[in-house]
Amino acid sequence: MPHSATSAPTYPADLLARAARIRLACFDVDGTLTDGRLILDDAGHEAKSFHVQDGQGLALLRRAGIAIAFVTARHGTVAERRGAELGAEVFVGIKDKRACVAALRARLGLSCDAVAFMGDDVADLTALADAGLAVAPANAHHWIAARVHWVTDARGGEGAARELCDLVLTAQGHVDSLLADGTAT
Ligand SMILES: [Mg+2]
Repeated sequence: MPHSATSAPTYPADLLARAARIRLACFDVDGTLTDGRLILDDAGHEAKSFHVQDGQGLALLRRAGIAIAFVTARHGTVAERRGAELGAEVFVGIKDKRACVAALRARLGLSCDAVAFMGDDVADLTALADAGLAVAPANAHHWIAARVHWVTDARGGEGAARELCDLVLTAQGHVDSLLADGTAT
């Protein structure tokens, strides 16, 4: 659904119904919160870029009482640092994302219906299959895009996560109060 500065997105009713139940939003990192590119230098350091509007959306979700988690197969401190900035639980080196999310979900006492998962490639498929709201960024591999409830307009690392945050905040009726508040999170 196209976005513009003057028109808010409209969402299908079934998508809003799924989003209204979400209490935990989980995100793959590479290709979802980032554009998927890994910058590796000769010293062994790894760099990747995150979008500040995604960060604002995640902070707003937290303010609305929704837990957020990053779930990545890779090791490294970049995702951990970004997650710490945003109050996300961060799980690195995860080979079985479904099991990881299921354990977190159980710890929080939530059903699958209350979990959103966003991912872009095959390592995300099992977690997406379990999620009450399964979302892929616009750059997701087509195998994944065909198996989710919603594909965002934006690509990973370019505001895709913000679209999911906005959907959940809209479905749960938080937008007017957030706009009236207007303070930074
Ligand atoms: Mg990925």
